[in-house]
Amino acid sequence: MSGKREKVILLADCMSFYASVEKADHPGCKNKPVVVAGDPARRSGIILAACPIAKSFGVTTAERLGDALRKCPELVIMRPRMQHYIDISLMITRIYEEFTDLVEIFSIDEQFLDVTASLPFFGDPIAIAKSIQQKVLSQTGVWVRIGISSNKILAKIATDIWAKKNEDGIFTLSKSDVETLLWPEPVNKMFGVGSRMTAHFTRLGMNTIGDIARTPLPSLKEKFRARFGKQSDIHAEVMWRTANGLDDSPVTPRTFSAPPKSVGHMMTLPRDYNDKSEVDTVLLELTEEVCRDCRRKGYMGSVVTVSCMCSPYEAPTGFSRQMKMPDPTNNTNAVFQAVKMIFYKYWDKMPVRRAGVTLSQLVDDGNYQLTLFEDQVKSRALEKATDRIKDRYGSAAIMRASSLTNAGQAADRSTKIGGHYK
Ligand SMILES: [Mg+2]
Repeated sequence: MSGKREKVILLADCMSFYASVEKADHPGCKNKPVVVAGDPARRSGIILAACPIAKSFGVTTAERLGDALRKCPELVIMRPRMQHYIDISLMITRIYEEFTDLVEIFSIDEQFLDVTASLPFFGDPIAIAKSIQQKVLSQTGVWVRIGISSNKILAKIATDIWAKKNEDGIFTLSKSDVETLLWPEPVNKMFGVGSRMTAHFTRLGMNTIGDIARTPLPSLKEKFRARFGKQSDIHAEVMWRTANGLDDSPVTPRTFSAPPKSVGHMMTLPRDYNDKSEVDTVLLELTEEVCRDCRRKGYMGSVVTVSCMCSPYEAPTGFSRQMKMPDPTNNTNAVFQAVKMIFYKYWDKMPVRRAGVTLSQLVDDGNYQLTLFEDQVKSRALEKATDRIKDRYGSAAIMRASSLTNAGQAADRSTKIGGHYK
């Protein structure tokens, strides 16, 4: 055989993660229906996780607490302890790392493992999956389901469609089984396909994953363009590659080294800039440079500083002002909005000679991934629910989990309630 040896990739997914952690910490609730809810004090709070017993009453993730209580009045409601879940998640990472040093955090409750090089030491993939399950269960009380394949997307699909439904929580999806096993499945079971995409595919007469896979890519792009415009080419390709089980991205471990204090760029302009559109261009360039730098290095920042020096040199004016954004980010657009807001608030309209943009209070964006609303799997369902709540109560009603962890750590330690709905 020519070419590279097939890899063995696992996707390990924690079942009902937050609820499982709470049940492990509250043995008295072992046989009770337990949910973790955004705000137990309000019936409008949403369900962040439900244990299998609660689910058997029809309770679902992302539904409103009030609705869940109607289905199951004896529901035990726990308030979320995000820092604790992050700690347990990292503990699970450490367990995975006993089997391979190639562990990639995908979300707070899902991680990829490349165990190709571990096979000679730990046995075949199923044996490794079983030892992982036992170790995680005995040390944390959490049950993990494991999909096995030769790349990340197929491992993810193996977990979502099959391992989650299996008694033993393990499923192997070989590349050669894609046609017989994956292609007959309905499109809405495919990773990355939400209700909007499902409707789109239905309109195109594509009902199974195989229908997508068998459409030649150029023609799929055309069909996407007709509806979503030219920028949809990438999306079409992602869908097509997923349906065909193609993915050559490696399992990439994150390094949790301490981020630098700040990332900034400064520009001395070749001449005076007076014009708003020119100034905007400079600010955007600086912002893009800073954000790209952060993205490359894996950081996000929550404080934006804009500095500016205006002519003449003999009597220069200028400012250096900062603003805290609601969430850490390295998204150019988000930072640019903040940059413009600061700049136009303090600029005295004198010709600009130098300008600078800095992002500080940096966090590792891998850590940031460990947040509830970044969880790509649940996000489809949660997005809707959170939008609804934001519409009604304003965007402060739902804090991102990262703000909960930063601001909430001290509060969490001092109260440690995690108790029942009062
Ligand atoms: Mg899960």
